Amino acid sequence: MARYRGAVCRHCRREGAKLFLKGERCYTDKCAMVRHPYPPGEHGQSRSKVSEYGLQLREKQKARRIYGVLERQFHNYFKEADRRKGVTGEILLQILESRLDNVTYRMGLAASRQQARQLIKHGHFAVNGKKVDIPSYLTRPGEVISVREKSRGKDVFKELAETGQQQGTVDWLEVDFEKMSGKIIRKPSREEIDSPVSEQLIVEMYSR
Ligand code: SF4
Repeated sequence: MARYRGAVCRHCRREGAKLFLKGERCYTDKCAMVRHPYPPGEHGQSRSKVSEYGLQLREKQKARRIYGVLERQFHNYFKEADRRKGVTGEILLQILESRLDNVTYRMGLAASRQQARQLIKHGHFAVNGKKVDIPSYLTRPGEVISVREKSRGKDVFKELAETGQQQGTVDWLEVDFEKMSGKIIRKPSREEIDSPVSEQLIVEMYSR
């Protein structure tokens, strides 16, 4: 399946917001949003009027890029959110947050969602003790995500565990950095999801 392999900082510049796609670099002044805080390309600095649909589309693209999800998969997540009872936009974000790549990133066991995807594909993670190498695996409350025993000695995880311990994690996850594992306590509420997305605009776009 096609996946974008270009410079990911262009995504942040296009969306006009830091999407934190590059791990540590995002927190330094090397961040492209600090150095070039305008859309990429020749006409990046010229202003143009954006239609209502354009705004909705941008919001959807932003969410897709934050979570690293392809178009069709994103639409499927929306259909699933729409099917479930409750506030569609919030459920959509909860589904995105429950992806294994996002959960390992939120736990601090990966520096970015992109790195999480790579580590998962390389078979370093387990869910409830069983190896899972699918980044889009949708986790559920009660499940335990851990770095597999044979991978725990790797430098990358030692460093991540150290940084994660210092930075802490989110309330809906319980993380044990010593054991390099964490449990999903519950689904996050909208207030607990810090992604800079106006999900209502996405719902409006798909409801046109
Ligand atoms: Fe976005 Fe991070 Fe690149 Fe900054 S460094 S533009 S936050 S991906």
